Amino acid sequence: MTDFKVLILGAGFGGLEVAAGLSDRFGSSVDITLIDRSDHFVFGFSKLDVMFGKLTAAEVSHQYARIVKPGVKFVQATVRFIDPVARHVVTDGGEFDADVLVVALGSDLDPAATPGLVEDGHEFYTNAGAFAVRDVLEGFEGGRVVIGVTSTPFKCPPAPSETALLVHEFLTARGLREKSEIAVVMPMPAPVPPLPAASEAILAAFAERGIEWHPKRTIQRLDSGAHAVVFDDDSTMTYDLFLGVPQHVAPPVVVDSGLTVDGWIPVNPLTLETSFLGVYAIGDVTSVGTPKAGVFAEGQASIVAEAIAARIESGTSSVEIPRTYDGNGICYMEFGGDTVARVDVTFLTGQAPFGQFDPASSEYSAEKDEFGASRLVRWFGES
Ligand SMILES: Cc1cc2nc3c(=O)[nH]c(=O)nc-3n(C[C@H](O)[C@H](O)[C@H](O)COP(=O)(O)OP(=O)(O)OC[C@H]3O[C@@H](n4cnc5c(N)ncnc54)[C@H](O)[C@@H]3O)c2cc1C
Repeated sequence: MTDFKVLILGAGFGGLEVAAGLSDRFGSSVDITLIDRSDHFVFGFSKLDVMFGKLTAAEVSHQYARIVKPGVKFVQATVRFIDPVARHVVTDGGEFDADVLVVALGSDLDPAATPGLVEDGHEFYTNAGAFAVRDVLEGFEGGRVVIGVTSTPFKCPPAPSETALLVHEFLTARGLREKSEIAVVMPMPAPVPPLPAASEAILAAFAERGIEWHPKRTIQRLDSGAHAVVFDDDSTMTYDLFLGVPQHVAPPVVVDSGLTVDGWIPVNPLTLETSFLGVYAIGDVTSVGTPKAGVFAEGQASIVAEAIAARIESGTSSVEIPRTYDGNGICYMEFGGDTVARVDVTFLTGQAPFGQFDPASSEYSAEKDEFGASRLVRWFGES
């Protein structure tokens, strides 16, 4: 067993991947502590499965207690204080020191930042919010549904559009679509601005299904008395059901640590190093330049795991890193009818994103299922 200590804050897409990468390489001879305030992991996309009644909350909640990766110790605790200079972390379950610290705490959601959202709308980006929407949709008798993005950046840019397509499918199956309207409201000019082919396919699907598209609209607040969205130009749009993407922020403990600049942690886009020695940051908590999505957090994590491994193997911190981050990820987008589209996209600093969009099919739906299943095996050690 090496006395080299790796401390990973956050057991989401990024944190789980770093832990698994190091465990697979070193087995029990590495000392990895993985900390999360939750006792379970939920894939972002599973929120939609629960919202639309395809799976239960229990079925998509993967308990960290089941992690059987050699060398990995999971600690359920809330991180209260991070000293990135000393690589010292205080949690409500004890204090930790590290040779290498990986900050993978994701983004927090702040529904209260949009006045009226908590009182009269339903956010579907937290687990609790998405799971609660399931009951709301079950009880919905038809009417005007507005799906609104309150601010940028936000996780998984296709998710609000996927939600609109799945609301259409849900209401159609219940015979409620004809007495309903569905509208999508976003501050951006296109559903997924970096991906024109994906945006075109989404807008074509909206047009086919009679879903309204309202780009470049900035939501100021919800007027709970009038059940209306109020925009920044004081114009309004009424709804019977508002499904919202709340404002995203870095977790306060990260902001308080001094790691952030303009709200997020800046990192070297090739190495994921922060400006603090021995401290990496990956995923949604960074401003690395990729969208906030699990696949990108995972790709960044594999680079960090390799860099830490090289450092452990060489016994020196000045070792050359084996591989740099390539900004690539494969995203799956629900189009309804158990079909899924696939986007293979690369984000490189100083270049326009490039990649390929493959239209929705049942084959990609199966591929997406396999994507999730393979991660559970790799991260949790389950067979
Ligand atoms: C509706 C929806 C659909 C999505 N669909 C997709 C998709 O199809 N594909 C895709 O790639 N991505 C998707 N995403 C986005 C994806 O879920 C996130 O981008 C991804 O989880 C980010 O990974 P991360 O490791 O950076 O952070 P996270 O996975 O969010 O992990 C951060 C962890 O840190 C923990 N944490 C935070 N603060 C503290 C603290 N103070 N103390 C202790 N623990 C703390 C949290 O509990 C959490 O487990 C979707 C998201 C949503 C909301």
